[in-house]
Amino acid sequence: MNPITYTRAADPAAATQELSASPKTRLLGGGTNLLDLMKMGVETPDRLVDVTRLDLAKVEELPDGKGVRIGALARNSDLAEHPLIKERYPVLSEALLAGASPQLRNMATTGGNLLQRTRCYYFYDPAFAQCNKRQPGSGCAALEGYNRIHAILGQSSECIATHPSDMCVAMAALDAVVRVQGPKGEREIPFAEFHRLPGDHPPTDPTHHHHHLLTAVHQPAAPWAKKSHYLKVRDRASYAFALVSVAAALETEGGKIKTARVALGGVAHKPWRSHEAEEKLVGAEPTAENFKLAADAAMKHAKGYKYNDFKVELARRSIVRALGNVSGTQVV
Ligand SMILES: Cc1cc2nc3c(=O)[nH]c(=O)nc-3n(C[C@H](O)[C@H](O)[C@H](O)COP(=O)(O)OP(=O)(O)OC[C@H]3O[C@@H](n4cnc5c(N)ncnc54)[C@H](O)[C@@H]3O)c2cc1C
Repeated sequence: MNPITYTRAADPAAATQELSASPKTRLLGGGTNLLDLMKMGVETPDRLVDVTRLDLAKVEELPDGKGVRIGALARNSDLAEHPLIKERYPVLSEALLAGASPQLRNMATTGGNLLQRTRCYYFYDPAFAQCNKRQPGSGCAALEGYNRIHAILGQSSECIATHPSDMCVAMAALDAVVRVQGPKGEREIPFAEFHRLPGDHPPTDPTHHHHHLLTAVHQPAAPWAKKSHYLKVRDRASYAFALVSVAAALETEGGKIKTARVALGGVAHKPWRSHEAEEKLVGAEPTAENFKLAADAAMKHAKGYKYNDFKVELARRSIVRALGNVSGTQVV
């Protein structure tokens, strides 16, 4: 048995103070990931600090047309259905609605979604002795094991786990900015720098320090994002994590692509923005042929590990399909 103290943070400063008090303190959002990990014995906190009563659940316009502020405690279902999100960032609404189930989305918070942990079987189950993410130095069982859901991009010889979030793939495409509050105050982290690749230190997922409370995500104004789309490919039509997903946005002018965004889920340790694909698209015509060239560029360095080899071709085809859907181009 692990004795745990439970407290409710009165304000953000109290939450960060509690975090500083012990490295084994965990903040409790919706609890849909943390409590599962505690039941499995993967997370063993000694303090749980409930942050769900903090006034951080609003979704509102930023001043001067700068975009939208999403409070870290906004629930996934509220965010998905919010008129500002549906109208300006359809890819974000679609990504949220593609995740989990309605009950889970009603509980899950924006901050918790950002910090949810990998669904790698070997990480999730302490009965497996080898997992560098759970037990540094123990090895990576997925490399030679059953690795159907694992990474094909950005992986290391230490870890081939993937980031499981749908919401984060859309945020990566939309250049979101994460706001965190630590002992020294609040600061901003560009989305691309928020999550990390495993490298030689798989245990750490985000780049920011443990002592930080997520307070908000700022979604910069992006007129091009009105034409955006999320495509998720999975084993079941609902209630399943992505094998591969694509967040895509395209803006065209005079028959050529002016702005392009392509981000992938289910393929890497972090939401994977494909600048290679975007570079191929900008200035090109929105044709199936050009979408295929962009998909090839995105997958140039992809590598499978036997059971997930299929993901390379699946990702390629998903990129073409997502770009076809968002542009209204026939791609088959
Ligand atoms: C059966 C099942 C299916 C699912 N399917 C999908 C899916 O298809 N797609 C998908 O994207 N997700 C899926 N999920 C995952 C789900 O989206 C996450 O569990 C959820 O988003 C986590 O949010 P939460 O608020 O419950 O986080 P919690 O479980 O409360 O917390 C997760 C982590 O974030 C930390 N945390 C929480 N809030 C803050 C904060 N404000 N500041 C700092 N740290 C914080 C916690 O300490 C913890 O480490 C699924 C989950 C389950 C159980």
